[in-house]
Amino acid sequence: MKNIAIGLGDDKPRLGECVITATGIEGSLIYALSAPMREAINRDGAATVHIDLLPGRPLDKVQAALAKPRGSRSMSKHLHSQLGLDGVKAALLREVTPAEHFDDPAQLAVDIKVLPLTLVKTRPIDEAISTAGGVPFEALDERLMLKQLPGVFCAGEMLDWEAPTGGYLLTGCFASGRAAGRGMLEWLNR
Ligand SMILES: Cc1cc2nc3c(=O)[nH]c(=O)nc-3n(C[C@H](O)[C@H](O)[C@H](O)COP(=O)(O)OP(=O)(O)OC[C@H]3O[C@@H](n4cnc5c(N)ncnc54)[C@H](O)[C@@H]3O)c2cc1C
Repeated sequence: MKNIAIGLGDDKPRLGECVITATGIEGSLIYALSAPMREAINRDGAATVHIDLLPGRPLDKVQAALAKPRGSRSMSKHLHSQLGLDGVKAALLREVTPAEHFDDPAQLAVDIKVLPLTLVKTRPIDEAISTAGGVPFEALDERLMLKQLPGVFCAGEMLDWEAPTGGYLLTGCFASGRAAGRGMLEWLNR
């Protein structure tokens, strides 16, 4: 879904894109929101995000477009011709919205602008691009050596580091690997 916005709680919705998969949603917009989504799921058992399928159009414009007479055309055709909503966006709208909302243009416009989607779980760790949690920095010295296990060093994803997904994970892992490597040399040379 290109050019959408997703909001979680009271935060301003973020613009971007995401992919609908067999099990849920993923992609750059989800990576950006994954930490607060995960926290909400852990805290409340589920997280409801609100998707704006047409972030470029205010609600009143969407309502006005949908209120135009559609004659004998189906609502799907109306959505497509008036708002350009089709494909996966239209399918998600159909999936999530109660059928009776499709007979009520004013309500359907609200659904298009704040479509609620409830997320119940993160994907398993085997599929994760990055993981939260790990060895806390308080357990390490400045060389990334475990204070309680001298000679053992930590780097990369094993650190409790909320990594900024989007190309920086490898950079962060390499950088902490380098720091730990230099720490090892220093410790061995002492
Ligand atoms: C599908 C996917 C796409 C990604 N895309 C990107 C991207 O585009 N850009 C980006 O920056 N990051 C990306 N990442 C994230 C990035 O790959 C990881 O953050 C990074 O590789 C983690 O490095 P690491 O060294 O901490 O762990 P790993 O790369 O997981 O290395 C750990 C190593 O330890 C080995 N190991 C495990 N247990 C033992 C054991 N008991 N004894 C010996 N060895 C063991 C494992 O075999 C593995 O080789 C992606 C990750 C995934 C899964």
